[in-house]
Amino acid sequence: MVQSSVLGFPRIGANRELKKTTEAYWSGKVSVEELIKVGKEIRANNWKLQKDAGVDVIPSNDFSYYDQVLDLSLLFNAIPERYTKFDLQPIDVLFAMGRGLQKKATETEKAVDVTALEMVKWFDSNYHYVRPTFSHSTEFKLTSQKPVDEYLEAKEQGVETRPVLLGPVSYLFLGKADKDSLDLEPISLLEKLLPVYSEILSKLSAAGAKSVQIDEPILVLDLEENIKTAIKTAYEFFSKQEGLPSLVLATYFGTVIPNIDALKGLPVSALHVDLVRNPEQLDQVLEILSPEQTLSAGVVDGRNIWKADFSKASEIVNKAIAKLGKERVLVATSSSLLHTPVDLENETKLSAEIKDFFSFATQKVKEVVVISKNVSGEDVKAELEANAKSVSTRAASDVTNDDSVQTRVSSIDDKLGRRSSPFTERLSEQEKVFNLPLFPTTTIGSFPQTKDIRINRNKFTKGTITKEEYEKFIESEIEKVVRFQEEVGLDVLVHGEPERNDMVQYFGEQLKGFAFTTNGWVQSYGSRYVRPPIIVGDVSRPAPMSVKESVYAQSITTKAMKGMLTGPVTILRWSFPRVDIPQKQQALQLGLALRDEVNDLEAAGIKVIQVDEPAIREGLPLRAGEERQDYYQWAAESFRIATSGVKNVTQIHSHFCYSDLDPNHIKALDADVVSIEFSKKDDANYIREFSDYPNHAGLGLFDIHSPRIPSKEEFISKIQNILEVYPVSKFWVNPDCGLKTRGWEETRASLTNMVEAAKHFREKY
Ligand code: GLN
Ligand code: ZN
Repeated sequence: MVQSSVLGFPRIGANRELKKTTEAYWSGKVSVEELIKVGKEIRANNWKLQKDAGVDVIPSNDFSYYDQVLDLSLLFNAIPERYTKFDLQPIDVLFAMGRGLQKKATETEKAVDVTALEMVKWFDSNYHYVRPTFSHSTEFKLTSQKPVDEYLEAKEQGVETRPVLLGPVSYLFLGKADKDSLDLEPISLLEKLLPVYSEILSKLSAAGAKSVQIDEPILVLDLEENIKTAIKTAYEFFSKQEGLPSLVLATYFGTVIPNIDALKGLPVSALHVDLVRNPEQLDQVLEILSPEQTLSAGVVDGRNIWKADFSKASEIVNKAIAKLGKERVLVATSSSLLHTPVDLENETKLSAEIKDFFSFATQKVKEVVVISKNVSGEDVKAELEANAKSVSTRAASDVTNDDSVQTRVSSIDDKLGRRSSPFTERLSEQEKVFNLPLFPTTTIGSFPQTKDIRINRNKFTKGTITKEEYEKFIESEIEKVVRFQEEVGLDVLVHGEPERNDMVQYFGEQLKGFAFTTNGWVQSYGSRYVRPPIIVGDVSRPAPMSVKESVYAQSITTKAMKGMLTGPVTILRWSFPRVDIPQKQQALQLGLALRDEVNDLEAAGIKVIQVDEPAIREGLPLRAGEERQDYYQWAAESFRIATSGVKNVTQIHSHFCYSDLDPNHIKALDADVVSIEFSKKDDANYIREFSDYPNHAGLGLFDIHSPRIPSKEEFISKIQNILEVYPVSKFWVNPDCGLKTRGWEETRASLTNMVEAAKHFREKY
């Protein structure tokens, strides 16, 4: 019998129970006992659901109150000193490390004020982990036994599980040195970590766990020799310890082939590889397995929401069986299902046709079981037939295919993505029209999304106010924002984006080719969950999406008004993409749809148009090589297709945040002006990299995630610093990002100080 296995299940609850209770706990509305109870219920449900579905290998310790990497830092006592001095309960230490903590002193408790640890993207997913932070004084020791507790908890409920842990090498590799120990190489701590790591493994074994899933996802990255050696060191160390469970080494999100040497002969009982993303790695992986080793074949996608193709998946698994035999193959999800929404059954608004394309975590669990039954020779004919029908219906569906879009994409030539003149010529035409001062000031787009805005949007969605009433309300909000910017003295204005729920969803809802869920939440970090739109078919723009608001905003001011759009790569990255056509095709389709919008904005009299691409950097393939080079090319091309249909005199802006800037990428977009998140970087080397960028740039001068108000003097000194390496003639003045999460009071104060600082420099130059 071929066994079925799941690498991890979403832990947010089918109705976001974890978020609701966690946030209630943070605001003091529920007790820690209540929070723990909800966690326990979610775990129990998840285990039961998988058991009922017939999964053979069910994970435990895939649950977390915040982040599984942070859990490990707590488990191993990798807790920077600044979090330990307040005598907090362990769960509060966890939250303090994850999100920072500020608390006034009470009669019984000390005041607390610590910032959070750094949060980083989990590989190329939209999940963020809390970065382990080590110093010379880090002393690993077990401070709890969460994995053991959760294993036993499941056992009590009659569910035998396979605990999951992030592997020691990935754990260290994904961490960094703390401020006080910058010379520390995290991987140098391996020797100290291994004995403690093996202690938790032996405790799991003593509790009854036969095998443990150890994730080493870094094995799909480009690795230096010392890291590959560390992999060998770690697993050879474990193999020499008495009484450990058998180890299943799991990789995902890529291919292990470039690191196959590190895996060959490794003393682990099984290897898991992602055969959804990289099915071609199977042959070589089969070659290196030793006669006792099992293959865990990841054939059900843990990163996307499409139904698995049972026949294709079975074919892959059968190939492995032919070589290894049924006893040595597991049918598994490609990665943890953390990245998919919990249950498709909760979607009541999707059409039956579209709903049949999808499979969320609860459905994927069943897919793994059906595929394993199929390759075991059990009768699942009915399931196979239904699946084949669904797969072929989707391929042929009108929802999927739009000939006119496909024709348009195939007629793209090199000229389409080029503006008619080089930047310098455009600039001189623009300068005549805009007549901007030196140090022109602007913002990134959104202004505070107040409660009032959310209430009115809800009323409109629920139908308790009419479209006309809602639009009137939006106009009044736009007017407020315009008057405010005039008062403060900004040069290039924005309309404030009050009509937008989200920068991707808002456009997705108006584009043909998208579908939306009502409950398809996925954890992004901590208690923040997102509900990504789904690209279901060829994308086009039936009608203008943003023209009305921009035109209205321009009509009530004599200053330049920026039209504001989300770029093709960002829309693609923050949605569930199609897997039946390449991402490049989808980006180009989005580029064309946005081109129509950009051209319409220009035709309607909008002279400055910003197309945001905050996600452009995170889309970069994990490994150097051809795929990455391709991405550089098509990401830039799709942006340029969107923005190069305009006249020289129309000024194209773009904006980037959330990740390290990449000058080469940004240059390839050929936007006239870019604004970049910068305030926390504050590093002259970043600026230097950028100073030979020919077009104009605004380096973000204040952190929009914080309510803190920088003074005029602080702005002046920041600008002064940048001026040491960045020229006056190309200098724009702006915040890091949009202001939608800020309050009005701090927005007014910060922007006033920012504009005052710009004026100060205008007088000097
Ligand atoms: N224009 C958007 C805003 O200001 C950009 C948001 C972003 O970059 N994440 O909200
Ligand atoms: Zn931004």
